[in-house]
Amino acid sequence: MTINIILLGPPGAGKGTQARKLVDDRGLVQLSTGDMLRAARSSGTEMGKRVAEVMDRGQLVTDEIVIGLIREKLSEGGNGFIFDGFPRTLAQADALGHLLDETGMVLDAVIEMQVDDQALVRRITGRYTCGNCGEVYHDDTKPTRRAGVCDVCGSTDLRRRADDNEDSLKTRLLEYYKKTSPLIGYYYAKGKLAPVDGLAEMDQVAAQIEGVLPVSSEIATGT
Ligand code: ADP
Ligand code: ZN
Repeated sequence: MTINIILLGPPGAGKGTQARKLVDDRGLVQLSTGDMLRAARSSGTEMGKRVAEVMDRGQLVTDEIVIGLIREKLSEGGNGFIFDGFPRTLAQADALGHLLDETGMVLDAVIEMQVDDQALVRRITGRYTCGNCGEVYHDDTKPTRRAGVCDVCGSTDLRRRADDNEDSLKTRLLEYYKKTSPLIGYYYAKGKLAPVDGLAEMDQVAAQIEGVLPVSSEIATGT
């Protein structure tokens, strides 16, 4: 069986971390519009150049661009999709609804990762990731064991995002409250909303998410 879910929550709520776990545990395909846009900007295309400036300020990229990125990926199937950082506006949510209908896919749940704003600021301003394997670290709560070296893959390519600073974060939060948080009511009304406590330990958050999903034994594992 396939599962399609949305991870919804403000910047720093831990969507990316949980998405990576679901990819490992369930073989789902992660569709992170943030990652796609960062890939586009580093590829130096015309579109990449246009989005780079917008992203660094912490504003939202246009609906047309992100909907286009998602549309391209939806044919890739597998055990299902985790939408991470998409949709972020009501227009994007409607577009996703149409895309899923067209391809005969069903949205199983929208996981709302609840966190308070103070926690977000602390989480984001200390965040860095491995450019090679994507592991996420934090200055205070989860530094690398050896300074400057990724615990998982040994790479020294550790990066901080240009928009993980206090100014851009303020804009990102404002964008979230103005444009994205209405999706909570939207998906509640559709009977899809499943709130989880995003401030719990990483494994507990994962367990809460598992509790919302159909049991994984229904996916053939050979056991
Ligand atoms: P976070 O959730 O930590 O803020 P993301 O990696 O999801 O970060 O997104 C980073 C930036 O990419 C956003 O601030 C925005 O500029 C752009 N972006 C990502 N997804 C979308 C989207 N669905 N619609 C518009 N802009 C987006
Ligand atoms: Zn690594």
